[in-house]
Amino acid sequence: MPIFQRKPKQDDAPATDGSGLTEAAILKALSTVQDPDLHRDLVSLKMIRDIEIEGATVRFTVQLTTPACPMREQIQADCDAAVKAVEGVETVEITMGADTARDNKLGAQAMLPGVRNTIAVASGKGGVGKSTVAVNLAVALAVEGAAVGLLDADIYGPSIPIMLGVDEQPEVSEDRKMLPIESCGVKLMSIGFLLPDKDTAMVWRGPMVHSALRNFLTDTAWGELDYLVVDMPPGTGDAHLTLTQSIPLTGAVIVTTPQEVALEDARKAVTLFNKTSTPILGLVENMSYFIAPDTGTRYDIFRSGGGRAAAESLGVPLLGEIPLDMTICEGGDAGVPAASSLSESPQRDAFMDAAREVAKLISVQNMSAGSGPVIESN
Ligand code: ADP
Repeated sequence: MPIFQRKPKQDDAPATDGSGLTEAAILKALSTVQDPDLHRDLVSLKMIRDIEIEGATVRFTVQLTTPACPMREQIQADCDAAVKAVEGVETVEITMGADTARDNKLGAQAMLPGVRNTIAVASGKGGVGKSTVAVNLAVALAVEGAAVGLLDADIYGPSIPIMLGVDEQPEVSEDRKMLPIESCGVKLMSIGFLLPDKDTAMVWRGPMVHSALRNFLTDTAWGELDYLVVDMPPGTGDAHLTLTQSIPLTGAVIVTTPQEVALEDARKAVTLFNKTSTPILGLVENMSYFIAPDTGTRYDIFRSGGGRAAAESLGVPLLGEIPLDMTICEGGDAGVPAASSLSESPQRDAFMDAAREVAKLISVQNMSAGSGPVIESN
């Protein structure tokens, strides 16, 4: 008798219950299923976990690289079909899980230890809906099951507490960290919490903003987050260049409206992030079109296709086109973001789609940089 038994290798693993099915056969079938975004098969991406065989029933978990994966349903259907094609399999039970791919750049800095990815939401000028997009992206990612934080760093108009219906002040923990306030599934910290009253405009100079932002990031007990969304102050000047350098960023989302003046500012914002080598995840065109609630007719109020053309000319993806809609404005004022709505609507769907697109691009970026889910060895 050997003192210890060697764990069988995958290709000589015996059937678990005498049915003739082996783990190796299931893995072989699953190695034909590709992740459409990562362009690799699920087995080599180490996404398949916990295979169990019981008679003609096969159970396993697919661990995606983001809970907001836009291809979730397709991947599940492809896995189901591939395993059902194995001789002897009758029932396939798949658990869809996620282990968000980490931006290794952040791990290298001790600034945000539990945060896997940071997303800056920026715009060339104010009033284009940057904060609205930041809130709804954060809420949409949380709706998809991600752990999400939101830092409202817009010193010129910190409006996010109102948009998330938060009017209390954060508490301070025993180790003197500020505790973010949770609303709509998102952990919020706002520079507005420092303002003596809501009408006070923040008149800070560049260096103060820079250090305040760093303090806000590091003095907040964010805990473990898949995504930290940062609502940046609008602008493209030198002060913003410094500001973008004060935060380790996985990528930037630029918000614009379709008018030519706004698009020009969006171009400047892209140039700004390029200077700091921050990857641009893409453009979100807000107030893109209007659908009349009574007739359902679509109106391109400003002009059509401006955001798409700008994204193409800048060589960045168009992440989404958000309609101009009263419920978005009303939801913002009432602290109920459109993405938190339980019923589907064009505006909710537009935010959800944009958030999934952002999550996908971050996964692809992290996986191609050699990061990935934390793989537990069996
Ligand atoms: P910014 O952060 O760029 O200054 P905000 O997000 O604060 O802009 O938005 C400015 C105003 O426009 C807010 O009242 C907001 O509710 C409204 N708004 C933003 N996006 C939309 C939209 N798609 N439809 C309707 N109102 C919107």
